[in-house]
Amino acid sequence: MKRFIADAMLGRLARWLRLMGYDTYYERDITDDTLLLIARREGRTILTRDTRLIDRRAARGQALLIISNDPAMQLKQVIEHFSLEVLDTPRCSLCNGLLVRVPDKQLVRDLVPEHVFLHHGKEGFSRCALCGHLYWEGSHAGGIGSKRSKKGP
Ligand SMILES: [Zn+2]
Repeated sequence: MKRFIADAMLGRLARWLRLMGYDTYYERDITDDTLLLIARREGRTILTRDTRLIDRRAARGQALLIISNDPAMQLKQVIEHFSLEVLDTPRCSLCNGLLVRVPDKQLVRDLVPEHVFLHHGKEGFSRCALCGHLYWEGSHAGGIGSKRSKKGP
């Protein structure tokens, strides 16, 4: 399974890759040295907008230079370059933790807006195993934050 580490300019891309199920390390304030170290230690492919970083010896052969400034185009580039598919193991867009299905939606009754609760099936909710953030159907496919109604983009 492909694992990634995204540079500081690629936060949106990192979140979308996580929702697709890909283990993607991202830290807003990471230095190049730390990024290279983590990439090597954890066998992660580097995604970067930084041509200087891509030229570093430690990055050679295991980094992809992201061309576009537009997150949607960035995602398209990564998907096409690595032939990625949406995995059935979505991850938390906030912290990269694995999502676990909530066994009974009654458990989240008080945690989500009423219309969300009413319009989602018994097994329509998942929770991040690490940070506890709650997701529901529709917050995966669109790759958009989960605190919105299902009518969101
Ligand atoms: Zn989380």
